[in-house]
Amino acid sequence: MSVYSTTLFTEIDFERDGKQIGRLNLPYSVTRSAYGVIPIPLAVVKNGEGPTVFLMAGNHGDEYEGQIALGNLIRDLDPETVTGRVIILPSANLPAARAGVRVSPLDDANLNRVFPADPAHGPTHEIADYIEHHLMPMADVFVDLHSGGASLDYVPFVSASFTGNADHDRKAFDLMRAFGGPYGQVWNAVDIGATTGGSRTAGGAALRNGAIEIGGEFGGGAVVHRDHLHLVERGVRNLLVQAGVTPGATIQDTGPMRLMEANGTDLFSLAPDYGVFVPVAGLGEEVSKGDLVGTVQNLEHPERAPIEVTFRASGLLICVRAIGRVEPGDCLGHLAVDANEPQF
Ligand SMILES: [Zn+2]
Repeated sequence: MSVYSTTLFTEIDFERDGKQIGRLNLPYSVTRSAYGVIPIPLAVVKNGEGPTVFLMAGNHGDEYEGQIALGNLIRDLDPETVTGRVIILPSANLPAARAGVRVSPLDDANLNRVFPADPAHGPTHEIADYIEHHLMPMADVFVDLHSGGASLDYVPFVSASFTGNADHDRKAFDLMRAFGGPYGQVWNAVDIGATTGGSRTAGGAALRNGAIEIGGEFGGGAVVHRDHLHLVERGVRNLLVQAGVTPGATIQDTGPMRLMEANGTDLFSLAPDYGVFVPVAGLGEEVSKGDLVGTVQNLEHPERAPIEVTFRASGLLICVRAIGRVEPGDCLGHLAVDANEPQF
């Protein structure tokens, strides 16, 4: 295809056996580069017939464990060990990843809030549109690796979206379990409308295309947590085995997994005023309704008592704000509660 294309294009042949490491080229015509593209890394590892797993990270540019793990996988994965196909998009919103920020500096858009996208609305929408209509239809399983980014820090958890279809949900649950880790989070996609167009996320696009969606949050604070990176690397490899794509490998034991869910706005704590957030509860702690999340202190008015913020529910504190300065409405943290073992 010509480099003068005005829509995303790639030299990669998704039907060809072997390993191809190329680029998804996003045309971006600016003063310094009239016919330029933004070359978003993309790899395909294929061998014969079998399931397709689509692995993505860098949906948000300041979330690194997934981006690093998928880069490592691109170099390491041997096509001879694969049955089927692995599509790897390690830094999906490359403009945001280049800048080390959550949303694209090109159009201020959050890739995980623009699905289903209208490509006329700018580069981030163009990426989303390509993902939903070109990559997602090939996928049996879609994996979207996140972390808390600059503003949040998470305990590491893998997640699965349930649709209410028993066969789908059992496979999703087994993939989540194989990925492993201390926590597994179950989302009810029907409740959030992900299967009917209500979800603006990449996961919603996966479900609309009939794929299984596995996600997760693996740290945050815009740093790479060493242990969380290890968890992601092991998890992705385990998932490929469970999905049947690397049948010769074995699933590494990851120990017990605590099942959680986080439905309801009362699980979220928000800043009531401008100031600096001083946490009291710690990440990973069990808390009760009424306990202190922390305080918000106004640096300009030390004579004022700090504003106390309390939890509106009980649960496990899985997410805490990672930036001191707050404005009204900023998320200070959120809880998850224990979920029952699903029955299929
Ligand atoms: Zn994210």
